[in-house]
Amino acid sequence: MSASRLNLAELDIPEIESALEERGCERFHARQLYRWIYKRAVVDFETMTDLSKDLRARLAADFDVVTPKVVSDLRSIDGTRKFVLELADERRIEAVFIPDTPAMTFCISTQVGCAMGCGFCLTGKMGLVRNLTAGEIAGEVRVLAAATGMLDHRFNIVLMGMGEPLHNYDQTMKALRMLHDEHGLAVSPRRVTLSTVGIVPGLQRLAHEPLMPNLAISLHATTDEQRSELVPPNRKYPLADILETCRRFPLKKRSRITFEYVLLAGVNDSPEDARRLARLLSGIKAKVNLIPLNPAPGIPYERPSDERVDRFAQILADRHLTVSVRKSRGQDIRAACGQLIVEGGVKRSAAQQMASLLQS
Ligand code: SAH
Ligand code: SF4
Repeated sequence: MSASRLNLAELDIPEIESALEERGCERFHARQLYRWIYKRAVVDFETMTDLSKDLRARLAADFDVVTPKVVSDLRSIDGTRKFVLELADERRIEAVFIPDTPAMTFCISTQVGCAMGCGFCLTGKMGLVRNLTAGEIAGEVRVLAAATGMLDHRFNIVLMGMGEPLHNYDQTMKALRMLHDEHGLAVSPRRVTLSTVGIVPGLQRLAHEPLMPNLAISLHATTDEQRSELVPPNRKYPLADILETCRRFPLKKRSRITFEYVLLAGVNDSPEDARRLARLLSGIKAKVNLIPLNPAPGIPYERPSDERVDRFAQILADRHLTVSVRKSRGQDIRAACGQLIVEGGVKRSAAQQMASLLQS
């Protein structure tokens, strides 16, 4: 791709309209292009048959639609599919299709790796390689929707793959705007959940977004001492600041903030932790999603027993909190939460990759 070529995958409709106008083309073709790219997953201008031959040739001369390439598509016995996608610079990311939860859900990455360094997360072990662009984030959804036959169906998006979405704020929000466009996939923000460790300035910006996704906060601990240990950004944005921001967060009627809590055996899973958690969340429209740890090699924690998880959940429920326990999906292909990891840019043989994906 030469420097002068413009990548339409990075542009929203107004930006494509301007690019067309600058080249003496009609602005309305932007909507047609969006339909082809998003609704039909067509990125080759030659195939866009409602555009004149002349226009197709001009588009092909000036524009590209850069799209992540599927390098593997692993299917779990429970129907979960983990896609490894290769970007233009050969970096790799992962995105997961989780069917029937009860909706169809895509779990999407926002960064290659992650800078936050949570001690129980494999992505955190990678460190941050780079931010994804808006076109790459929206591209994950385009590619997965096409590969799973979901282009004409409703689906949910959770920003719970690799990366911390509020650490890549502008590109993540631009991707959501592009995915929301009625000429493309028309994904309502009510169908999107953004999961974050709680970067307070990012949360404050999010509170003013016109297209506001559902919010999930990765809490995981009930004291600053423990949370700073497990979730290092807590040193900068401690519990009281995050919870205060949540209290003020503008929520639509009947909607609530989800608090995710990874349960680590003998670390944060005691009845006292559960009682403290309920106290911390009082006054917030909250629900709690308990996530028994998905263990992985190199992660120095263990998953608690089912009895211990049930006890924790019961204490919260007794205090009138809505609580769910996340069923782990796709563990056999290491597609479960916190198990997404791809060696940055390093190419390995398919067999090597398969072996490491299956060794969890
Ligand atoms: N960075 C964001 C979103 C991606 S992580 C965040 O942390 O919220 C998505 C969820 O997976 C988070 O709640 C995270 O804490 C959880 N997670 C990470 N590692 C995990 C593991 N090993 N087992 C279970 N859940 C994990
Ligand atoms: Fe990053 Fe989320 Fe993993 Fe923490 S849990 S290291 S924020 S991806």
